[in-house]
Amino acid sequence: MNYCKNCGLPENYQGIHLDENGVCNFCHFYDKHRERLNDFEALEKEFCAHIEKAKEEAKRQGSKYDCLVGISGGKDSTYIVYQLKHTYGCRVLTFTLDNGFSTDYGKNNITNALEKLDVDYLRIVPRESLLRDYYTKSVKLMHNFCSVCFHLMHYYSYLIASQYKIPLIVNGRTQGQVLQGADHERGIEPFEFSHSLKEFEYQMFGRLVDKLDGYSCIDLLHGVKAEAISYFMYHDVSEQETIEFLEKAIGWVRPKAGVPHADCWAHALAEKMSLEKHGYPVRTGEMGVEVRRGRISKEEAAQILEKDREHYSEVDPELVQRFYDRIDNSAYKKKEA
Ligand SMILES: [Zn+2]
Repeated sequence: MNYCKNCGLPENYQGIHLDENGVCNFCHFYDKHRERLNDFEALEKEFCAHIEKAKEEAKRQGSKYDCLVGISGGKDSTYIVYQLKHTYGCRVLTFTLDNGFSTDYGKNNITNALEKLDVDYLRIVPRESLLRDYYTKSVKLMHNFCSVCFHLMHYYSYLIASQYKIPLIVNGRTQGQVLQGADHERGIEPFEFSHSLKEFEYQMFGRLVDKLDGYSCIDLLHGVKAEAISYFMYHDVSEQETIEFLEKAIGWVRPKAGVPHADCWAHALAEKMSLEKHGYPVRTGEMGVEVRRGRISKEEAAQILEKDREHYSEVDPELVQRFYDRIDNSAYKKKEA
């Protein structure tokens, strides 16, 4: 197996091309824009300008809120709500998507955060048959189910934004998550912004979105306009800083050491599916970004990913059973009848 000489991504990574020197297309893109992506003083000003524009727009439309944030029970979205309210003086509406995968840890964090942050909050519970249908199809067709949560989270973001006339949706995607598949500027902040659900989903699903849209098996809320912005593309805050800040500010409880995505009980299975389908752990692309940014070395990234690989190659059969009970549509339909 060949690896990018620079970031260490494997040659079987989705969308990768290694050049004659063994350097990947993602590294070339990052290097070309390194300066712009790391000038956080300028980036924060840009973020500020988007916030001011949203405030004016909200005022003009008579909206009760300047921006919308979906919260999962993880640290990133909670941190953003705090900053938007206290540093940027925004009127923030928050919501969660109840998909049946949240852990007690995540739920308790949300309850605590809402109490301390004192912001309006909506809880969205999609109908059970729709959820099961989406998850079942996604596992069958793509051997993956995280994309359903991503889609639904952003679908409801746009739906709520349209109903409450909220001009700006702020999300907690990290630099790693935004840049992991970036070898072009289309749809990638800060080069280009999404103003609709379709534009936003292009970043995650690429041209698959055009295809899905054509087959009309997915509702992309045509006609709904709102700007989406990823807070961590404009603010240089490390994971450690986010956690320490929240512990002090709102009594945040950190997850047990080494548990990524502690807000989703099925995460281990998502990892296993990624290993089976792609041959590498979920955060492989994110680690590549961290290496390019100089936050960790190629060797450290390899160690982290090796641990993920060991940890997730075998998943507790009880968890697997619990997952399929959760998503199985035929069993649910039988119960209904
Ligand atoms: Zn590379």
